[in-house]
Amino acid sequence: MTRPTREVDVLVVGAGPAGLAAAARLAAAGIARVDVLDREQHAGGVPRHCRHGGFGTWTHPLTGPAYARLLHTAAVRAGAVVRTGTTALDWAGPLALDTVGPQGLETVRARAVVLATGARERPRAARLVPGTRPDGVYTTGELQQAVHLYGQRIGTRAVVVGAESVSYAAADTVRAAGAQVVAMVTELPVSQTTAVRAHDARLRHRVPLLTDTTVTELLGHGRLSGVRVRHRDGRSVQLACDTVVFTGDFVPDHELARRGRLELDPGTRGPAVDGALHTSRPGVFAAGSLLHPVESAATATRDGVRVAAAVLESLAGAERPRHTVPLLVEPPLRWIAPNRVAPGDGHPYVLRTSALSKRPVLQVVQDGRVLHEERLRAAVPNRTLTLTAGWTRLVDPAGGPVRVTLTGR
Ligand SMILES: Cc1cc2nc3c(=O)[nH]c(=O)nc-3n(C[C@H](O)[C@H](O)[C@H](O)COP(=O)(O)OP(=O)(O)OC[C@H]3O[C@@H](n4cnc5c(N)ncnc54)[C@H](O)[C@@H]3O)c2cc1C
Repeated sequence: MTRPTREVDVLVVGAGPAGLAAAARLAAAGIARVDVLDREQHAGGVPRHCRHGGFGTWTHPLTGPAYARLLHTAAVRAGAVVRTGTTALDWAGPLALDTVGPQGLETVRARAVVLATGARERPRAARLVPGTRPDGVYTTGELQQAVHLYGQRIGTRAVVVGAESVSYAAADTVRAAGAQVVAMVTELPVSQTTAVRAHDARLRHRVPLLTDTTVTELLGHGRLSGVRVRHRDGRSVQLACDTVVFTGDFVPDHELARRGRLELDPGTRGPAVDGALHTSRPGVFAAGSLLHPVESAATATRDGVRVAAAVLESLAGAERPRHTVPLLVEPPLRWIAPNRVAPGDGHPYVLRTSALSKRPVLQVVQDGRVLHEERLRAAVPNRTLTLTAGWTRLVDPAGGPVRVTLTGR
């Protein structure tokens, strides 16, 4: 059976902050046919169900849904077409995707493709947490959708697994649903959000934080009746609860990138991209949480703006840098994005570490040559580290990989 085929200039997959920001810029720049697809029934990505503040700017703070609406409206006003309920299934050519939506199966051919498919939290099964299979087990995204989008009831006593910013957002949602947060549990020795937020949860909302502690088992048949936790020193206790929320531990939604055999970065597990957010396939770009699971929505939106500029240059016939070299991290760093570099790339990099350190030094080295050193105030797992880009002009495009290390001196 031959599918109907549609031609567009730019096909954007994913109508979250990254995809919508890219589409708005491209359409506003005069690109006639910009299509944005999203498998959900409503555009806006994750912020749609983050019914809390923390979006927008300092001077114009917004809730997640208001931020999602703003970006959606901007894209549509600029002339982009947003097709919801439409999933990109697989590649039908180097710059073509098979899709399914209300109009049925279609092949969409484009002059450029932007992947902005976001990331998701790893659920309990992927984290290999043993125990029974009761009801009442969520990720933050599932919890927020259940409570804020569908008005469903959750239990009355919840344990939140994780202590990073998204975990505190989950605790807020639990309270908004009228339930009590029995405890937050983290394997790390400290919480990984801002001091203000951690104190607020502990003192004002009386949420106990169990550090150096792991959830070792889920208990209960039918409905969850408790979780067993073990402290690093071997002590083990049971916490009575009917709800558990697994937070953080994000993985990129890289299915399309993988199916298209785009080069993936071993750290982020999203597509490997250069400073212009170009993937390994000419004409295919990527942006947002797919590249750095997960940074703030503002970072994803900035990616959208940045990728739009690169797409415009590419459509105007600009050559992409002939030589980019891999940008690699060494432990305790986990990943860096973008993860290929060309001389003169101008945007800062985001990184994540797996270990706590105070006043560490970030060092950038190529073939034994130190290109840059920078002292940071602190490095905390699950929080953004930023590496400035002034050193990229020193990169030898014919040299070996550029390596980034974090040392505790
Ligand atoms: C629970 C939670 C709370 C957060 N709280 C905050 C906060 O307070 N402040 C803040 O700044 N940031 C927050 N963030 C982070 C913020 O939501 C992300 O940075 C942002 O949503 C990333 O935007 P994105 O466009 O890259 O991806 P997403 O928002 O994830 O959007 C990706 C979109 O792609 C679509 N998609 C995926 N695959 C396909 C496909 N094959 N076909 C069609 N569509 C597809 C998805 O349906 C989705 O709508 C939070 C994140 C989470 C999970």
